[in-house]
Amino acid sequence: MGTYRLGVLSGDGIGPEIVEATLRVLEAVQQWDSRLKFEWVPLPIGWEAIRTAGCAMPESTIEALEECDAWIMGPHDSTSYPAAEREKLNPSGALRHRFDLYANVRPARAYPGLPAVSPKMDLVVVRENTEGFYTDRNMAWGIGEVLATPDVALTLGKITRHGSERIARTAFALARQRRRKVAIVHKANVIRKAYGLFLETCREVGKEFPDVAVEDYHIDAMTAHLVRRGEHFDVVVTTNMFGDILSDLTGELTGSLGMAPSINAGKGRAMAQAAHGSAPDIAGKGIGNPVGIILSAAMLLAWLAGERQDGTARDAGQAIERAVAATLAGGPRTPDLGGTASTREFTASILARILTEIRP
Ligand code: NAD
Repeated sequence: MGTYRLGVLSGDGIGPEIVEATLRVLEAVQQWDSRLKFEWVPLPIGWEAIRTAGCAMPESTIEALEECDAWIMGPHDSTSYPAAEREKLNPSGALRHRFDLYANVRPARAYPGLPAVSPKMDLVVVRENTEGFYTDRNMAWGIGEVLATPDVALTLGKITRHGSERIARTAFALARQRRRKVAIVHKANVIRKAYGLFLETCREVGKEFPDVAVEDYHIDAMTAHLVRRGEHFDVVVTTNMFGDILSDLTGELTGSLGMAPSINAGKGRAMAQAAHGSAPDIAGKGIGNPVGIILSAAMLLAWLAGERQDGTARDAGQAIERAVAATLAGGPRTPDLGGTASTREFTASILARILTEIRP
């Protein structure tokens, strides 16, 4: 207990910079308590793997992850990969599919003192991660898209009762630890069979949680509700693509997309991964905001704490959250938050807080 073998997948673009920052933060909390120990297992994905192993997600990386307790994944720049790689599942899709990481939990919370469109927002998007309208996840073999003629593209969505049930259960259980409200987001008025099944299944699961209030919204209207009265929402449960889109929106509404953390969890497996992409426009400039991935690592500690009944990991995760909040309140800040700090300067400030004022 307390010793964790963590895979480290740096990814592309700003990935290596922000993953490096995250490892430094985890090493700092490790100094508090000798019972908490991380063993890093660096593994190639993305461009690094294309150069060294010929593909963006080598089988050797997947096999090594089988031996890890969990892992931290930086963003990939999959749209820039060679054509043959772009035909395959992208690296995070491949891992979500392979390890059945069905629950993508994406909190969005505004911080005191930090400018935000929705300064009172504090919600969690619970996104189904393995099916829906991301057609490359939907088949045992091949990809659920067909170019019937050069001018006709067909694409296949998949919603199952099983997939909907388990993500709904994750959402309702989470709501019980929070403000006891779940909003189901769908498009059952138009895509009646698939989203009808999702909505009906979520409602059925909701009956097992009579203490949790349930609402449902169409995805299009939900975007307006989030902007207009984001503070109303607690847990938002939705399908794969809607969850992906909404969580970028909620991340930006609370300050910056670069702040949005997430964990991808399945049975006995979890991956920490910020909601954002590889930010190619700022890659190499050393100014990526590492908050999203650092908070994802804190979520991973909370998940490990639950799996292993490890209070030390839980306390360390909470302390990271406090150190990030203190840094966001007091500065410095990265350019996406209106500041001028580099990733390193910003991280140094978090580290200083962890090593001085913040204690688990
Ligand atoms: P993006 O999230 O990379 O960038 C969108 C905007 O947000 C950019 O202006 C970027 O600079 C900014 N941004 C994102 N993260 C930031 C951070 N941490 N700090 C400061 N600013 C940040 O989205 P995109 O441009 O659509 O995609 C770029 C690449 O990332 C594409 O190849 C895409 O496929 C990939 N992608 C990967 C993931 C993932 O790895 N999970 C997720 C989304 C997109």
